[in-house]
Amino acid sequence: MNDYDLSELYQELILDHSKHPRNLGALADASHQAEGFNALCGDRVTVFLKLASGRVEGASFAGKGCAICTASASMMTEEVKGQTLAEVEKLFTRFHDLLTSPAEPVEDLDTLGRLASLAGVRRFPMRVKCATLPWHTLKAALDKKTGAVSTE
Ligand code: ZN
Repeated sequence: MNDYDLSELYQELILDHSKHPRNLGALADASHQAEGFNALCGDRVTVFLKLASGRVEGASFAGKGCAICTASASMMTEEVKGQTLAEVEKLFTRFHDLLTSPAEPVEDLDTLGRLASLAGVRRFPMRVKCATLPWHTLKAALDKKTGAVSTE
C-alpha cells in the first residue's frame, strides 16, 4: 500500500469515528472519571472508566469536541478496553510521543492499530491538543484526580 492510499484510509477511519463515535455516553458503573477541556479549540470531554483487578473493563466518553477530538476519544476507548494499567500507560506514552515528538516518528505504526491514523495530526500543532485531550483526561481519571483538566 503506498502512502497516498494509507493517508486516505486513515482519513476515512478518523471520519468514521468522528461521525459514529464508539463508547459514547456515561458509563453507569464507572469507577473512575475525569473531565478535560481544551481552551484552544473548545473541546470538552469526560472520560469514564471501569477498573477491575488492574484492568480496564469498560471505557466511554461524553462531551462535545471537534472531529479530531471525538475520533481520538472514540478510538482510545476501544483500544484501552481489556488492557492492564501498565499497558494503558505505555500506550499513552507512545501515542503522545507520536504526536508531540519533534523527530519524525520511528514508531512501527502497525502496532499502534487505529491510533496510527491520527499520526498526521502532528503536522498541525493546533490540533495536537484536540487529539491528546482524551488521553490526558484518561490519565487524570486513572490518577483519580478530581476537577477539570486543562491542556494549557
Ligand atoms: Zn478540537
